[in-house]
Amino acid sequence: MAITTVLPNLQRSVAEFLGKPRKMLVDGKWVEAASGKTFETYNPATGEVLAHVAEGDREDIDRAVKAARRAFESGPWPAMSPSERGRLLLKLADLLESHLEEFAELETLDNGKPVFFSRIVDIPTAVDVFRYMAGWATKVEGSTIPISAHGAQYFAYTLREPLGVVGQIIPWNFPMIMASWKLAPALAVGCTVVLKPAEQTPLTALRLGELALEAGFPDGVLNIVTGFGETAGAALAAHPDVDKVAFTGSTEVGKLILGAATGNLKKVSLELGGKSPNIVFPDADLQAAIPGAANAIFFNQGQCCTAGSRLFVHKSIFDEVVDGVAQAAKRFTIGPGLDPSTNLGPVVSKEQLDRVCGYLESGIREGAKAVVGGHKRSGSGYFVEPTVLVDVKPEMKVVREEIFGPVVTAIPFSEPEEVVRSANHTVYGLAAAVWTRDISKAHRVAAKLRAGTVWINCYNVFDPALPFGGYKQSGWGREMGHAVLELYTETKAVCAQL
Ligand code: ADP
Repeated sequence: MAITTVLPNLQRSVAEFLGKPRKMLVDGKWVEAASGKTFETYNPATGEVLAHVAEGDREDIDRAVKAARRAFESGPWPAMSPSERGRLLLKLADLLESHLEEFAELETLDNGKPVFFSRIVDIPTAVDVFRYMAGWATKVEGSTIPISAHGAQYFAYTLREPLGVVGQIIPWNFPMIMASWKLAPALAVGCTVVLKPAEQTPLTALRLGELALEAGFPDGVLNIVTGFGETAGAALAAHPDVDKVAFTGSTEVGKLILGAATGNLKKVSLELGGKSPNIVFPDADLQAAIPGAANAIFFNQGQCCTAGSRLFVHKSIFDEVVDGVAQAAKRFTIGPGLDPSTNLGPVVSKEQLDRVCGYLESGIREGAKAVVGGHKRSGSGYFVEPTVLVDVKPEMKVVREEIFGPVVTAIPFSEPEEVVRSANHTVYGLAAAVWTRDISKAHRVAAKLRAGTVWINCYNVFDPALPFGGYKQSGWGREMGHAVLELYTETKAVCAQL
């Protein structure tokens, strides 16, 4: 493979990793797909082939699920104490941290994002999530319950038990962070896992699998099957011996996962799309709100499920805010993620580029105006200009649908009640933000917004301790914080007659 000549400054470990076809992790071993097939991943900055990866399908999923079942029921994992499980997760976090540069480079090559962000956001966040969840391993508790049944005395209590074999399907926008959000809590409570990374970005998850073996996770506890959504992903969601499927991705695919899960009524948690309202009131600190609004949409090339893609601005400051966001868009240095001066990279794939451009065309056709941007960048790689659309109407596709690219629609409003109504006028309910100096108004509006997260005078602030998930069609369940324990444990009531 010509990868090292195309990218001469790669770290040696990264070049070596890319130089070999990547296998899947099943039952503690690196294996090829049963079919022997592989697929290619691409460098979004150039469109060139980056790596060859095993193309798992139904049979591979089945092998992985069998390994996960064995590891859940027998061998060292179920015998391990909570503290030992916590220590394994801490060790994995330490290993990941000690390979930070390597992971950052790999993430940027695979996903396209500026390496600056991979280095200070993606990989450190994943490390933090593993550490935070390691702490929960020893803190999953049941309770004793006074009961009033007649005729005898009883002692009743609850046990919180690991749910079993978990299938986890993750997207490409934050490959390592999503892997950590899924793996860390499931492993902390004692589940075993089959992880299916996105076909666009499987590389850091596979490298993480190597570190998990080095950390000492027993065979079969963590399996990683690479492959496509409609084949490997669908087989995992439908597998009759999987106890739970956890998914992050589009609402459309979330509904397919739900359908596939009905066969054995496996538990389902979903973290899906969004069309998040970002509301700027006239009394906001615009020095903070304007860059905040720009980052809310342009961070990660707009490929965030929480992207602040509907910017509601009070009409008295509309022109000033829109102009400020447009100026911020113009200041981005667009380029390959590995270039240290880049702060806006390519979108993840050709398919995504076409999708975002399709939305831009539909918006303009329906009467929207691009104050800045509006096009893809010519030349190789999947680059889209950061775009601010005005003159939009509520019924336009660009206002209603998730674009998942660096495109914001700016909408003027007059009254707080009106903007709350407009903000909630969406099938989604993942996140929202409010910018104002009036703390009463901030909290009143926060209470009325139908969203799983509301930020006040900030945006995209995440923490492993803060529960995250969606209202409405943005999902089922909450990840992170202690809320996530609900997703990976069953409660057993035990009642003894005394
Ligand atoms: P996008 O459309 O933005 O690529 P998806 O929601 O399609 O996002 O992808 C998120 C994850 O879901 C990926 O790992 C993908 O392979 C997987 N996936 C896609 N389609 C299906 C499906 N029908 N069943 C299970 N998983 C799927």
